[in-house]
Amino acid sequence: MYDLNYYGNSNENNQGQAEPLPDLCHKCGRCCKSATTFNTHSKLVAMAEQGQQEAIDFLEIFKPYATLDEARAEVPEQVEQVMKVITEREDMDEKDVTFYHCRYVTPEGLCGIYERRPRCCREAPGHGWSVMPPGCGFEGWQFAQREKQKRMVRDLKNMAYLMAQASPDGVNHPTRPGVTLAELHQVVDDKIAPWKPFGADNW
Ligand code: SF4
Ligand code: SF4
Repeated sequence: MYDLNYYGNSNENNQGQAEPLPDLCHKCGRCCKSATTFNTHSKLVAMAEQGQQEAIDFLEIFKPYATLDEARAEVPEQVEQVMKVITEREDMDEKDVTFYHCRYVTPEGLCGIYERRPRCCREAPGHGWSVMPPGCGFEGWQFAQREKQKRMVRDLKNMAYLMAQASPDGVNHPTRPGVTLAELHQVVDDKIAPWKPFGADNW
């Protein structure tokens, strides 16, 4: 499941710089035959019409399956996985999901345009919650990414808690002079916001 909303929000180091994606792909080609996004197809088209480059790239390479059954016949385990995730999300409905297959994946499952594949392919799976086919080479990496995001949010919440204890007026951060408690809470909120659909409020 591709995520066109989260570029640059994951796989960052402590300085906020994107780290290169490790070479963990088994080159099975299943993600190229079972792409979905957290957007409806009509929203994707609208995003592309408004000039959003990731949506333009996505629609240039991917063709929608005509029906869910057609996708299920090609990549059954991935369809089941994605539908399970969708049923658990309050902001999405099964009827909104479209599965896609790439125009450029070869019969052997390789990329026919590897050197010029778009950003959504270069950065996939992008973050720890992208739904990849079972047995994908990135499973361990995704687990580590999820833990990293949760740890970062917990550390920030802890910092805000300690600051509130040490400085009831919320203006004198003991280790980060010049940072107010309100600013720290804003940092926490900003960090959490993209991950709320994945349960970030409870981390
Ligand atoms: S499913 Fe995973 S291992 Fe297979 S091609 Fe896609 S990224 Fe590579
Ligand atoms: S462009 Fe290449 S990497 Fe991207 S989905 Fe198509 S075959 Fe896969």
